[in-house]
Amino acid sequence: MTSTSYDVVVVGARPAGAGTAMVLARAGLRVLMVDRSGFGADTLSTHALLRGGVLQLARWGLLDRVTAAGTPPVRRSVFQYGEDFFDVPIKPNAGVDALYAPRRTVLDPILVDAARDAGVETRFGITVTGLRRDADGRVTGVVGRDDTGAPFSARARITVGADGMGSKVARLVGAPVEATGTSAAAFIYGYWDGLPLDRYQLFYRPGVTAGTFPTNHDQVCVFAATTRRRFRSEARAGVPRLYTRLLGQAAPVVLDQATLAPERLKVFVGRPGFLRRAHGPGWALVGDAGYFKDPITSHGITDALRDAELLANAIITAASGGASEEVALASYQSTRDRLSAKLFATTDAIASFCWDLDQIPMLLLELSDAMSDEVRLLGDRDPLHSTVSANGR
Ligand SMILES: Cc1cc2nc3c(=O)[nH]c(=O)nc-3n(C[C@H](O)[C@H](O)[C@H](O)COP(=O)(O)OP(=O)(O)OC[C@H]3O[C@@H](n4cnc5c(N)ncnc54)[C@H](O)[C@@H]3O)c2cc1C
Repeated sequence: MTSTSYDVVVVGARPAGAGTAMVLARAGLRVLMVDRSGFGADTLSTHALLRGGVLQLARWGLLDRVTAAGTPPVRRSVFQYGEDFFDVPIKPNAGVDALYAPRRTVLDPILVDAARDAGVETRFGITVTGLRRDADGRVTGVVGRDDTGAPFSARARITVGADGMGSKVARLVGAPVEATGTSAAAFIYGYWDGLPLDRYQLFYRPGVTAGTFPTNHDQVCVFAATTRRRFRSEARAGVPRLYTRLLGQAAPVVLDQATLAPERLKVFVGRPGFLRRAHGPGWALVGDAGYFKDPITSHGITDALRDAELLANAIITAASGGASEEVALASYQSTRDRLSAKLFATTDAIASFCWDLDQIPMLLLELSDAMSDEVRLLGDRDPLHSTVSANGR
């Protein structure tokens, strides 16, 4: 078996992996990106982008591709706490005047194509099963198999695990978990016709939330979430029935106004969030592989796109001799952790469902504060370099 050599091999070709690979290749690095799934395959996820995620797509020159795919612009977010409504317009800020919720079958291929355009070599149908290491234990690439079962191997100076919440790379390097959440929600979602396409709607009732995200083909993705305990006891009578019951409690307007499209309902029974150590000799983690939080705050893709650029810039800084690999990657992790701390804690509190209708608006305000910090950082021309100096270099 021959093994080609790269500057970086990225495992996982979705928001975190494709974003990281693209930024690296645009800077001239030789990058291989592999994924065990197929190009354009769907994945288990609703797909609301928040301001930081839209800002990243705009900064990378990819937002036009999202709008050209017919993804409707979202101009307002409407929050409903019990009987109270709050209609919040999306104010133009940092070059973003609308939010978007592209289907993953739209967003992920756009990111992969952009990585390919930048020169990333991409291989789908490759499952990574192990790591290469040198005599000192430094990670020097990956091994695995392709979809015919043939062995696969690639050497690289840095191996990036962008392989999602169950990351094989994280397991193989033994990346320690440095923070954990305590709560996790259960989700059911599907696609509906007949709901407004100009707004995100978020509904909160004790023990249940729901949300509507307008997407491609004039459809709206609608999720309902509750505690895992309630899901387990009530889903026995059927997921569609529980979905209808949860929507009837949190968002009866959906049942009154809209029709469920004939696409299978999707279910995710969550797990508590975690922050893993994000780097070591020859390896780094990005996206859900290193930092997972409950989807209840719809922020995973946005964070993956944010951290893709932070990590890529750290690797570029190290490759160009601007800092040692250890310093550059440590700076990436400390920025990730600093930007994530408030979001992580607040998401965990919301996913616990231990709140009442007086408390939930406060939690959402905390979330909004955390997102503003993130947008401020991404609005900087060169996000990582400002953080390298903030970390004492
Ligand atoms: C129910 C649900 C709803 C969500 N809703 C939202 C939302 O509305 N907004 C939002 O921003 N986020 C949402 N999220 C979170 C979002 O899906 C994730 O944060 C995001 O997908 C993380 O991107 P990623 O690139 O890190 O990983 P992933 O998207 O998980 O991609 C990882 C890739 O790695 C590949 N891979 C894994 N192991 C291997 C291996 N051994 N070899 C090769 N390839 C491998 C997989 O095939 C996959 O393609 C939701 C998540 C869930 C579960």
